[in-house]
Amino acid sequence: MMNDLITTLNRIAETYVKLVLSVGLHDSSYVDAYFGPIELSEQVKKENIQLAGIKSSAREAFVILTSLDMASREEITKLRWQYLKTQLQSLFARVEMLEGKKFSFDEEARALYDAYPPKYPEKHFQEILSEVEGILPGTGTVSARYDEFKKEFIIPKEQLDAVFQRAIKECRRRTKEHIELPANESFTIEYVNNKPWSGYNWFKGGGFSLIQVNTDLPIYIDRAVDLAAHEGYPGHHLYNSLLEANLYRKHGWVEFSVYALFSPQSLIAEGTANFGIEVVFPGAERVEFEKENLFPLAGIDAGKAEQYYKVHELFLKLAYAGNEAARGYLNGAMTRGQAAEWLVKYALMSPDRAQQRTRFFDTYRSYVINYNLGQDLVKTYIEKRGGTAGNPKKRWEEFTILISSPRLPSGLT
Ligand SMILES: [Zn+2]
Repeated sequence: MMNDLITTLNRIAETYVKLVLSVGLHDSSYVDAYFGPIELSEQVKKENIQLAGIKSSAREAFVILTSLDMASREEITKLRWQYLKTQLQSLFARVEMLEGKKFSFDEEARALYDAYPPKYPEKHFQEILSEVEGILPGTGTVSARYDEFKKEFIIPKEQLDAVFQRAIKECRRRTKEHIELPANESFTIEYVNNKPWSGYNWFKGGGFSLIQVNTDLPIYIDRAVDLAAHEGYPGHHLYNSLLEANLYRKHGWVEFSVYALFSPQSLIAEGTANFGIEVVFPGAERVEFEKENLFPLAGIDAGKAEQYYKVHELFLKLAYAGNEAARGYLNGAMTRGQAAEWLVKYALMSPDRAQQRTRFFDTYRSYVINYNLGQDLVKTYIEKRGGTAGNPKKRWEEFTILISSPRLPSGLT
C-alpha cells in the first residue's frame, strides 16, 4: 500500500509540473524556474493545453489527492501531499484570473498565496512617520527629508559591483558556517535597466542562479547586504539550490524541478529571503561589518553608519504601507497617481520609485504581501520553535529545515 501511495503522489507531481509549464504558455511571468527534462517542456509546448483543459486536469489531480488516506504517514510525506494540494488550488485560481475572473486584493492573496494579509489604518503609518520625522534633519515633508538625508548614502555606480561582491562574499561565508552548501552552487550578477523590480534571482538549475540588479534608480548602501542576503545567501539562490539538491535530485520529487511564481511557495521564498537578512547578520553585526567594509568601499562616511541604520530601522516599520497602496490600486479605490502619492507619503519612496512600484503592482499584483507578511510569518514560526535572536544556533537550524522542506504558508500558523 505504501508504494501505491508514493506512486500516486509521483504521478500527480508529474501532472503538476506539466500543468505549471502549461500555464506558463498563457502567462509569461508564471514559470519562474524550470530545470527538469527539456523533453517535458517541449512536449508541453506541443500539446499546448488550453485554460479549460488545465483547469479540469488540476481539479482531477486535486480530487485524487483529497481521497488519499494520509493519517498514518510520515510528516515529510504529509507535507509533500499538502504542498501538491495547495499549489494545485493556487494554480487553478491563477488560471481563473487568466480567464478574466476578478478577485479582490485579499481574495487573490488567499487564492494564490494561501495567506491572509493584515489591514492597517492610515493612523498606523502616521504614527511611525512622526517617529521618523523626529530624527530626520531639515524641514518639509518627511518623504522629501528622507530623500535628502539618504543622498549621502548612495553607492557610486562605479563602486556598485565591488560593494555587492564584498557583501555577497560575507553572506556566503557566514551562511556556510551553518549550512552545508550544495556542491557547485554559484551565481553571477548582471546589471540591467527598465524593469518593474529592483532585483531578481533567476534560478537555472544545477545550483546556478543569475541575479539581476536594476540600476534605473539610485542604489543606497543598505541595498548591498539586502541584495546579497535576499537574492543570494541565505535567500533565493540558496533556497532554490537546496530544494533542487534535497527534494528534486535526492528524493526524486519532480514537483521541485519547477517554480510557479504566483503560488504559495513564493510566500515562503520571499519570507525566508527577507528574514534571512537578520539571520545572517544578527543584531549589531550588520552595522559593524558595513562600517568596516562596505562604507569605505563605497566612499561613504562610516561615522554615519549608526545614524543611517537608526533611520532605516524605522523605515522598515513602514513595510506594510506598500500593501495598502497595492490593495487600494488593485481594488480600484485608488488611481495610479493616488497609489504613487500614498507610496511617497507613507512608504517614503521617491516619486520615481513610487512610479516604478505601481508598475510592479500591474505585473505582480498581490505578490507584494509575500515580502512583508512572508517575513513576519517566517519569523514568528521560527521563533515559536525556539529560533529566537538570543539563540542563533537554533535559529539557523530551524531556518535551514524550513528552506529545505515543502512547507507552505498555512503550515506556518
Ligand atoms: Zn525576492
